[in-house]
Amino acid sequence: MQVRSHQTAMTNHFFQKIRDAISERESRTFLETPAGVSWTYAGVAALSARYASALAELGLEAGDRVAVQVEKSPEALMLYLGAIRAGAVFLPLNPAYTNAELDYFLGDAEPTILICDPARRAGLAPVAARAKVRSLETLGPDGQGSLRDRSDISVPHFKDAPRGPDDLAAILYTSGTTGRSKGAMLTHGNLASNAEVLATLWRFSPADVLLHALPIYHTHGLFVAVNTLLLSGGKILFLPKFDSTQCLALMPQATTMMGVPTFYTRLLRHENLSRERTAHMRLFISGSAPLLEETHRAWFERTGHVILERYGMTETNMTTSNPYDGERKAGTVGLPLPGVALRIAEPETGAILGQAETGVIEVKGPNVFKGYWRNPEKTAAEFRSDGFFITGDLGKIDESGYVHILGRAKDLIISGGFNVYPKEVEAEIDALAGVIESAVIGLPHGDFGEGVAAIVVPAPGASLDEQAVQDALSKNLAKFKLPKRVIFVDELPRNAMGKVQKNLLRETFRDLFGSRPDDYP
Ligand code: AMP
Repeated sequence: MQVRSHQTAMTNHFFQKIRDAISERESRTFLETPAGVSWTYAGVAALSARYASALAELGLEAGDRVAVQVEKSPEALMLYLGAIRAGAVFLPLNPAYTNAELDYFLGDAEPTILICDPARRAGLAPVAARAKVRSLETLGPDGQGSLRDRSDISVPHFKDAPRGPDDLAAILYTSGTTGRSKGAMLTHGNLASNAEVLATLWRFSPADVLLHALPIYHTHGLFVAVNTLLLSGGKILFLPKFDSTQCLALMPQATTMMGVPTFYTRLLRHENLSRERTAHMRLFISGSAPLLEETHRAWFERTGHVILERYGMTETNMTTSNPYDGERKAGTVGLPLPGVALRIAEPETGAILGQAETGVIEVKGPNVFKGYWRNPEKTAAEFRSDGFFITGDLGKIDESGYVHILGRAKDLIISGGFNVYPKEVEAEIDALAGVIESAVIGLPHGDFGEGVAAIVVPAPGASLDEQAVQDALSKNLAKFKLPKRVIFVDELPRNAMGKVQKNLLRETFRDLFGSRPDDYP
């Protein structure tokens, strides 16, 4: 009997799916940029092979990490695919990270190769040396650099490294709003299954053109957008960053857009956003941060399109989505994706809660990551014994099965022993005339442990004061939920993915209540 080793029988799990998709449409365009880059699917196969060859020539072995801190460029995407084909673990890093931050990431991930912007090479050389990085290469925003030079002289064919569904494809560090950020280990199976599910659910086809203005160091712009398009054969209109004027100028060429809520609020502020300009669009998708019901409504009124909101996180890829055909309910993130099990549990005990009860969202499925890089304790702490991952997001499931997100568990405020869900208070504040948006946070309070504070962005010209907001809220909210202070600001601090940085707000207003008990009941 002949026994074939598992190794030789294995293909490169994720890239094989892309390869199959490419072979069906080699001459179609995969990517275009306003600067004139235009690559076919055959070009993707050749260019990613060149990057895979360049990495292999640098001595990369399967399982090695390739850390990449570069500006968004089409070449960076080919590097991503090249790394997957070479069997590497792709590790994208936000270009905004400082050298001190890189020190941590490189020390933790121990990549063999670091690719950075040419302008940062000298500054990063000692950081890379400390982390024992073997090769430091460059790739600039214009696609030039030492790695590009290597890829240019490499062959456009590559024998993909065999990788199974359980092998690592990428490590993405979480945004780390509490404590140090952790490396989420994502497998070939995670990426492949999520892209397949999304391509089908959202009906992507070769006729689609996706307006891509997201960063590509994050799960949204890299995996959700790029992987889904690659598997469905559509085209990406690839923009260096989000600019509402440019997006609207290019929108007539697109059929779909994926954005964070900030894209939608900024586009709504633009005079060129109209029904005519978006009439041909097939789908607008939002995620990565909560889309206000107000934005959902305003978008519909202005364009006639109902935004499809979905929910996911670095560790789980995408988990839920509003339906393509059924009702897209504002303020909800829709239904669990096919193959994904989702439940609500009591955060401390893990007891499973019923419909309409609020608790922590837990998920299980082929989308869920393998664990935190070199952190078995943290991994064990975040999984239940039956394999469900504890997301840390608070939510509930309504009578139609739609999931509602009520904020992060760590943002839950416990004031005088009572649980206050910030989202509930924020919804009441946001509904007041003259309010654009708000963030409700808990701050140290001498009497209550935590006191509820509201940070509010008023509409231009609105005449709101603290007392008026408190009086209005007292009509609908129990006393313990009422903000003891209301602070007005011009805008809320947000990260690149549009998430409100409540940790920064808690830091800024830490001493708001001092340590004196105040006289609020
Ligand atoms: P990240 O790992 O950076 O993608 O952040 C994931 C977190 O973003 C989730 O755990 C949620 O707290 C939040 N998030 C993502 N999508 C949504 C959404 N549609 N609505 C509300 N929060 C969201």
